[in-house]
Amino acid sequence: MNRLGAILLKIEAPLLFLSKDSYRNLRLVKDFETTMSAFSRELKNVLQVNMKEAGRGGSFDRLISDFDELVAGFDKLPLDAKKERIERALTIFGRLREAAAGFSEERPVAGDSETMERNSEASFERLSRPVQFVKGVGPKLAALFEKKGVRNVEDLLYFVPRKYEDRRNVKDINSASIGSKETVTGRVTHAVYRPYKRRKAYEVTIDDGSGQLTAKWFRGNLTYLRRIFKEGTRVIMTGEVTSYLGGKDMIHPDYEVMGEDEDAGDLLHFKRIVPVYSETEGLNQKHIRRIIASAVHDYAQFVESPIPEEICRRRGLQDIEYAIRSVHFPEQNERLEDFNAMRSDAHRRLIYDEFFFLQLGLALRRKAGTADGGIAFKTGGSGIRKFYSLLPFSLTGAQKRVIAEIEADMEKQASMNRLLQGDVGCGKTVVSMAAMITACENAYEAAIMAPTEILAEQHYNNIKAWSESLGMNAVLLTGSTKGSEREKIIQTISKGDANIICGTHALIQKDLAFSRLGLVIIDEQHRFGVVQRSQLRQKGTNPDVLVMTATPIPRTLAMTVYGDLDVSIIDECPPERKEIGTSVFFEEQRDKVYSRMREELRKQNQVFIVYPLVEESESLDLNDATRMADHLQRDIFPESRVGLIHGRMKGRLRDETMASFMAGEIQILVATTVIEVGIDVPQASLMVIEHAERFGLSQLHQLRGRVGRSDIPSSCILMSHRGGSEDSARRLRVMEETNDGFRIAEEDLAIRGPGEFLGTRQSGVPDFRIANILRDSKILIEARADAFSVAEDIARKGLVGNRLLKKVLTRRWAGRFELTKTG
Ligand code: ADP
Ligand code: MG
Repeated sequence: MNRLGAILLKIEAPLLFLSKDSYRNLRLVKDFETTMSAFSRELKNVLQVNMKEAGRGGSFDRLISDFDELVAGFDKLPLDAKKERIERALTIFGRLREAAAGFSEERPVAGDSETMERNSEASFERLSRPVQFVKGVGPKLAALFEKKGVRNVEDLLYFVPRKYEDRRNVKDINSASIGSKETVTGRVTHAVYRPYKRRKAYEVTIDDGSGQLTAKWFRGNLTYLRRIFKEGTRVIMTGEVTSYLGGKDMIHPDYEVMGEDEDAGDLLHFKRIVPVYSETEGLNQKHIRRIIASAVHDYAQFVESPIPEEICRRRGLQDIEYAIRSVHFPEQNERLEDFNAMRSDAHRRLIYDEFFFLQLGLALRRKAGTADGGIAFKTGGSGIRKFYSLLPFSLTGAQKRVIAEIEADMEKQASMNRLLQGDVGCGKTVVSMAAMITACENAYEAAIMAPTEILAEQHYNNIKAWSESLGMNAVLLTGSTKGSEREKIIQTISKGDANIICGTHALIQKDLAFSRLGLVIIDEQHRFGVVQRSQLRQKGTNPDVLVMTATPIPRTLAMTVYGDLDVSIIDECPPERKEIGTSVFFEEQRDKVYSRMREELRKQNQVFIVYPLVEESESLDLNDATRMADHLQRDIFPESRVGLIHGRMKGRLRDETMASFMAGEIQILVATTVIEVGIDVPQASLMVIEHAERFGLSQLHQLRGRVGRSDIPSSCILMSHRGGSEDSARRLRVMEETNDGFRIAEEDLAIRGPGEFLGTRQSGVPDFRIANILRDSKILIEARADAFSVAEDIARKGLVGNRLLKKVLTRRWAGRFELTKTG
C-alpha cells in the first residue's frame, strides 16, 4: 500500500504544480509526456501486484487508460489544450484516489504504527515539495527564497520571523503621536499625485472621524497604488507618524485594504502581532507574509515531531503544528517580548525539537560505537610505573583523575570514545603517553595524529625519549617523510615492529596498514574533521579513541559537536605555571614594545613575534613577516639574531631555524601561526602578536601559551590598530583580563559563533534553523538528557513503538545534520 500511496503522490504533485496560478507553470514544463507515462506504468505495476489478492481492479484499468490518453502527445499541444488536459487529468486523478482509498480498505487492517508510518511518508513527501508548490510562488520568487536557503515547503515553514511588530492596537488618528510607530484605520478621502520641489509623491489621505492623515509614497508602482486607493476604500496602515506643515503623515506605510466589517478577523498584516522576516531584494514583507500564511495554512499539519508524549508533557512542549502556526502568527494574547526574544513557547518547542533529534542521533551513534566490542586492555602495568618514575615532576590531581578515567574506559570491552580538554600547558601529553604505554604493554600499537608537522615532530621527540627508556619503538610519519625512508617506516608499522606511531594526516593514507592498532589519539581535534577522526579509527578494529584539544570548548558546544564522546577535563595547571601578563599596545607605541623586547634579550631570554596569515592575503602577509624580520635584524636589533619561520618554507629549513631557536642561537623568532600549537621553548618569555585583532580569542590564547613554558616570568603583547571596531577592542580586553582558557573560549564563541569558533568548515557544527547553542543552552541540556534516555529505551526494547521516531530521525539527519556519513 505504501507504494501505491507513493506513486499517487508522484502523479499528483506535478499536476497540482502545473494547475497553479492559472496554469502559469505550464510554460516551464518539458517532457511531461515521458515522465507521466513512466508514472502511469509504475502505477499499473503496483496495482497488478496487489490486484489479485484484492480481487478487483476494473475501475482502475479504465481510469489509467483514460489517463494515458490525456498524456499522449501532450508536449506538442498548444497551451489552451494543455490546460484543458491538466484539468481533466486532475479529475481522473481524484477518481483514482477514491478507488485507491476503497482499495486500501479491503486490505488487512494495518497495525497502528504501520498506518502512522504510511501517513508519515506522505507527509514527508509534501514537505519536501519545492517552494513553488506554495500558492503565490513562481520560479522567480523560488529563486529569491533559494538565496535564503529556503528550497522546499518545510524550509519555508521553518523560515521563522526575524522579529515581531505589535499592530494589535489601532489608534484614533487624532491621538496618534508624532514620532512613534502607530497603526490607524480610515476611509480614503482623496488620492493625488503631487509634485514637490525636487520630487513627486503619491498622496493618499484617510479620515477616521477623529482626524486626517496623509500617506505618501515617493517611489513605487503608481498604477498599482492608484488601483488600491479608491475614494471611500477602508484601509489600515502602520508607520511612523511624521508631520509636514502641521498635518499628520506617514511615509511609505505598510497598508492593507479592509473589508466593511469592523471585526473581520482575517487581516494578515494588521490588528495582530505581525511577523517581520529577513528580506531579500524583490521579496517584501507583505509578500513573504502572504506566502508563509499560505504555506502554514496548507502544510503545517504535515510537520511531524514524534517526541514521546511523556516528554512533551513533562517539558510543557506545545503541539508541533500549533507551534509552527504560532511562531509565524502569534495569538492575540501572546507577549510580544517573548516572541522577540525567541523565548515564546512556540520558539521553545521548535528549538527543543532541533536539539532533541540531533542529540538522539548522537546518543544512538554513541551506543552503536561502544556496542561494537572493543579491546579490554589490562592497565597498571610495570611500564606505567616506570614512566612515572622518569618524570621530573609529580602529576597534578587533574592529570591523575583523567588518567584514571581513561584507564577505566580502556579496561572495558567497549571501545573508548573520549574527548580530553585542557588548556595549553596543562600537561595533556603526559596523559596521552600514559594511555599509549598501556596499549603497547597489551601488545597493541598506539598512534598519535597531530595537525601540523612541527607538532607531530615535537610529540615524536618527547615520546621517543620516553620510549627509549621504556624499551619501546617510536616512529614518525609525516608528509615530508619521503622515498626509501618512508618505505622503511611503512614496513615497520605494518609488520607490527613500531609500538608508537606519531604523525600527521599521513597516518590516514590508504597505503598505510597497521598491524594491531589498539589506541588512536588525535591531538587538536578541532583542526581535523569528524571524517578524519573516523578514518584513523578504521585503521584498527574498534581501537580506543582519545581526542585531545587545547582549545577549551564551551560545554554546550561540546555537547553538540562532540556529543557522542565522553568528556574529561584537565582543569588544573602544573603548580609552577604562572599567569602570562598581557597588554594591548598600539602602533604608535612600537618603540615601547622594542624596549620591552630589549629587556628580555638582556636577560638571555627569547622573543616570538607572530604574524597573522590568512588565506586570502597569504602572500601579502608573508611579505609583512619577511619584511619585519629583515627590518628588525638590520635596523633595530643588529646585535641579536633574528629568524623567520613560516608554513611555506621547506621542511628542512624550517626545522633548522626552529632548532636554532630552541638552542638559543636565534633570539628573536618572527613566525606565522605555524607555531600556534604545542611548541615548547622554555627560554621564550615574550610573545608579541601583530594585528592581534585579526585572530580569534582562542587562537590568541593558544599563541600566548607558547611562552611561560618554564619558571621564567613571561608576558604577551597584543599589537592592535587604533580605529579598529569597538568589538575588537572589547575582545582584546578579555585577553588582558584573564588567562582562563574556558572563559576565553566562551567569549570567543559568543563573538564569532560556533562555525568560526571551531575554524573549519567540516567542524561538524550542525546547521540549526532556529536553535542557537549559546542562547538556548538550557533547552539543549534538557533535550540532550531526554534524547539520551530515549536512546537507552531503544537500546533496551528495540524500536517497539519508536519506529516513527527513528524514521523522522533519519530524515532530519539526512537533511540537516551532515554527520551521518561519518557514522
Ligand atoms: P599541553 O599538551 O597540555 O599543552 P604539555 O603536556 O605539553 O601540555 O605540558 C606542558 C609542560 O608542562 C611540559 O613541559 C610538561 O613536561 C610539563 N608538565 C606536564 N605535567 C606536569 C606536572 N604535573 N608538573 C610539572 N610540569 C608538568
Ligand atoms: Mg600539547
